Amino acid sequence: MIKKDKINPQGMVFDIQRYSIHDGPGIRTIVFLKGCPLRCKWCSNPESQEMKPQVFFVKSRCIRCGLCVKNSKNGEVTMGEEGIEIHRNSINSNDLGWVDVCPTKALSIKGKLMSVDEVVDIVMKDEVFYRQSNGGVTLSGGEPLTQRDFSLELLKHIHGKGLSTAIETTGAVPWDSLLAVAPYTDLFLYDFKHWNDEEHIKYTGISNAQIIDNLKKLAETGANILVRVPLIPGVNDTEESINKTMDILKGIGINKLALLPFHQYGSGKYDSVGISYEMKDKEPPKEDHVAKLQKMIADAGFKSDYN
Ligand code: SF4
Repeated sequence: MIKKDKINPQGMVFDIQRYSIHDGPGIRTIVFLKGCPLRCKWCSNPESQEMKPQVFFVKSRCIRCGLCVKNSKNGEVTMGEEGIEIHRNSINSNDLGWVDVCPTKALSIKGKLMSVDEVVDIVMKDEVFYRQSNGGVTLSGGEPLTQRDFSLELLKHIHGKGLSTAIETTGAVPWDSLLAVAPYTDLFLYDFKHWNDEEHIKYTGISNAQIIDNLKKLAETGANILVRVPLIPGVNDTEESINKTMDILKGIGINKLALLPFHQYGSGKYDSVGISYEMKDKEPPKEDHVAKLQKMIADAGFKSDYN
């Protein structure tokens, strides 16, 4: 259970990636937090969606030794003709000893409770690189603000050391969560999935109303916001769709917009966490199409930088 300690709260972290040159300026560490209110059909981090720890299975690493089966007490895993079979409904996330015994790390757990101090200790190992490159730390997910107290304390710590802070957000959170972190956040990487509410609901599971409303309020605070549209072929990649998006952004005072072209890098992870993936046959957008849309965005007066 997540500790309710406002001074040093715990967070459910599923990854910490050092030496990133994406998701903010300079060299950065990306801290990935679990929990998300959206279920985007193209999500590249399906292991981020649930708040609780999840068993992650990489079939190619399994040598079928059967140790996990022997150590499972409640039939969480059995051996079938094709290898092990995980029965996710039988898993108790407080009793995962059968995962830890795997000698090849074919089985692992995504999601670990960490205190703010523990995360700060890890990210500050690269302080020298941040200072040389004007880099810092980005909170990502999932939606980092589903763990608001943890995100807030972490941002305060990093910001207090004079390092760059960024947060990648869906915007689908209570307004007071965004307002609370704004003084300690140098850059908001704000996802904008679809301008049309029906399509937004169809592809993400929720309305875009709160997301647009929060974006407007955040812009009014003077926060540094780069809106990013995940460019998904057949979903939101037409010129009309980008024009409609730009109309909304102009109307609420946003002047920075970037595209994140769809990719399949996360597709293998769906099987690993036992979630079905509807977009496995979808191709990434063509480079010349992306370039054309980017030119349209630039011609409309939008910038796409972090500063
Ligand atoms: S313990 Fe690991 S390697 Fe052995 S059967 Fe289970 S998943 Fe495969």
